[in-house]
Amino acid sequence: MQIQISNPAYLPTKWGDFTIQSFKENEKEHLCVFKNKPKNTLNLRIHSECLTGDALRSLKCDCGEQLDFSLQYMQKYGGMIIYLRQEGRGIGLFNKVNAYALQDKGLDTIEANHQLGFKADERSYEIVEFILKHYGITQINLLSNNPEKLNFLNEKIVLRIPIIITPNRFNTQYLSIKQSQMGHLL
Ligand SMILES: [Zn+2]
Repeated sequence: MQIQISNPAYLPTKWGDFTIQSFKENEKEHLCVFKNKPKNTLNLRIHSECLTGDALRSLKCDCGEQLDFSLQYMQKYGGMIIYLRQEGRGIGLFNKVNAYALQDKGLDTIEANHQLGFKADERSYEIVEFILKHYGITQINLLSNNPEKLNFLNEKIVLRIPIIITPNRFNTQYLSIKQSQMGHLL
């Protein structure tokens, strides 16, 4: 794995002041957003890119709200968000839009992915190991409801911090499928 690391830079946001640093893995440019110096034990959120949720504030998913929750949490308690550029659970933006079109016709999130020839979730978290090693982090408090992330980082997790989001009328089905079929701890 060939990875380039940018210089750290200051980033003021609506939620407070952070430091950012980018990790470039081939064409994928990931971002670490942190409050205070990374330390043991680190409060950590691993957030996968969701353009529609994070930037357009879509109500179809809970990504934007999870990101806001995480930024506010880090502002208050310190910690890091690793923002991974794996849009649409790893299928990319173009395919995600096609999946949304199938959802408009009544398919659920998993059925739509399957119809397009993808797994329900195509994301991977290998780069996370590299990033944690780079900062010398061996123990984390993970902000997540996702069992795959919990399994992947199992050995390093001291505590799980749940992210609690209030459903809206557009994402109720999305959230219930996450819970019932993908094992999310909601
Ligand atoms: Zn989303």
